[in-house]
Amino acid sequence: AANRKLQPLANLDGLTQLANRRYLDSYLAQQWKAARQEQQPLSLILFDVDFFKRFNDHYGHLAGDRCLSLIGKTTQMTIKRATDLVARYGGEEFAIILPGTPLVGAIAIAKQIQGAIQTLKIDHVDSEISDKETISLGIACLKPQPDTSVDSLINAADTALYDAKRQGRNCYALHVNEYANAAEID
Ligand code: GH3
Ligand code: MG
Ligand code: MG
Repeated sequence: AANRKLQPLANLDGLTQLANRRYLDSYLAQQWKAARQEQQPLSLILFDVDFFKRFNDHYGHLAGDRCLSLIGKTTQMTIKRATDLVARYGGEEFAIILPGTPLVGAIAIAKQIQGAIQTLKIDHVDSEISDKETISLGIACLKPQPDTSVDSLINAADTALYDAKRQGRNCYALHVNEYANAAEID
């Protein structure tokens, strides 16, 4: 349903054929509101391709484009629920919105995406972490409180992604803040 609602061009990213940032923002705002009304958890995964500048430098920008397109398609294939949305967040960063999904569910999906990208075995001889292309993921899950905005969810996922990079890449990290205790871990 989330994908059917995409208006061609205005809401689609040309390279990956995924939802673009514009659609992501509007869908996220809509789901945040729904989650607040229904007091349901809303999860967001942000992931970023590791050492992608070096990938472009070594294999060329066109190979880089193909890699992003493949990663987008592979991510989309791991997503099962109609309300889940995969989007290109920008550059080599992707976002997955998971309505009604608690933290454990989001972790399971993050692991599936990481595994699916690993299975692609995209050569990356210049990566410091592996000889294949890898991703780092940040996971956040919040039950929206009356005084919080959707930015708190984006910031939480972004901080988690930064932590995953700092921990050495090719891994996921979680961000738990004072609002996260409401998002049960089961
Ligand atoms: P890190 O592991 O810390 O994420 O390092 P990185 O090299 O992936 O990160 P950095 O931000 O230094 O570089 C991102 C690169 O992604 C640089 C940019 O050229 C490339 N990139 C962004 N968008 C596209 C695109 O649409 N196509 C291609 N081929 N490359 C892109
Ligand atoms: Mg990046
Ligand atoms: Mg990167």
